[in-house]
Amino acid sequence: MSNGGHRHKGWMQIVGWTICGPLFCVLVALGYNVMTFASFPVEIGLRAAFAAIVVPLGLATPFFFYFSIKLGELASANRQLSLLAATDGLTSCLNRTAFTALVEARLEALVPKGDQVHGALLIIDADNFKQINDRFGHHNGDIALTLIARAIRSSVRSGDNVGRLGGEEFGVFLPIVDRYGAEIVAERLRRAVEKLAFVADGHRHQLSVSVGGVVFDRRTGFEDLFKLADERLYVAKNEGRNTVRLIGCATSGSGFAILDA
Ligand code: GH3
Ligand code: MG
Ligand code: MG
Repeated sequence: MSNGGHRHKGWMQIVGWTICGPLFCVLVALGYNVMTFASFPVEIGLRAAFAAIVVPLGLATPFFFYFSIKLGELASANRQLSLLAATDGLTSCLNRTAFTALVEARLEALVPKGDQVHGALLIIDADNFKQINDRFGHHNGDIALTLIARAIRSSVRSGDNVGRLGGEEFGVFLPIVDRYGAEIVAERLRRAVEKLAFVADGHRHQLSVSVGGVVFDRRTGFEDLFKLADERLYVAKNEGRNTVRLIGCATSGSGFAILDA
């Protein structure tokens, strides 16, 4: 939910608590007083009823207002904590744990089209990154990593997921994409990194990534996808880096099958 959505929901809750809380207190007090003073003269009954309305309203309204504001602040702090726990501090991508859990959940939830579910998992590794650190220092290496992460994020759609799997390695999950679509996205992000203006020691230096990926067209588990994508990444590295290597795969009743290489 967006920030505006959370704020609107927060105010609705404050209004709800501030109206319903005191109203409940009034009803309880009124019920109790009506029963207790039923045998008393009408004037005393009316005074008891008046007290049962005014006292709870006067006390409970500010209490419930304060209580609901504090409840809202707690919910907001919890949301921020969850976000922090799921985010990689340097690149602002999802961290490995959050990315893996999210992709596993999305793989489970993908609605089958017939019995087919298309999608792809890409693994992206910065090329020769140790040299970047060695030549320009860890601080500039960190800057290069944030630039790469930004280039990857800006090359995918809003419904796709980007995570930092560790070190200089990223994962991208593309739901509902076929082989052609996955190739286009992988190429787009490879080129986006290639075009980055990474400046260190007063000079522009070329960055690049290798991309390994797997395109699936049946329900498939994250572990199997990761293994195949990682193998393709290895191929991309061996074939000279700054390149994309994808593979198609499918699972059937009899197990896991590679469609092409
Ligand atoms: P390859 O093309 O085969 O992937 O070569 P590589 O040098 O990128 O791979 P290698 O695994 O040898 O080195 C990875 C480097 O990434 C080494 C490590 O210091 C650097 N690295 C990992 N995490 C970070 C980080 O958070 N910040 C910085 N600056 N460097 C990092
Ligand atoms: Mg690397
Ligand atoms: Mg690596």
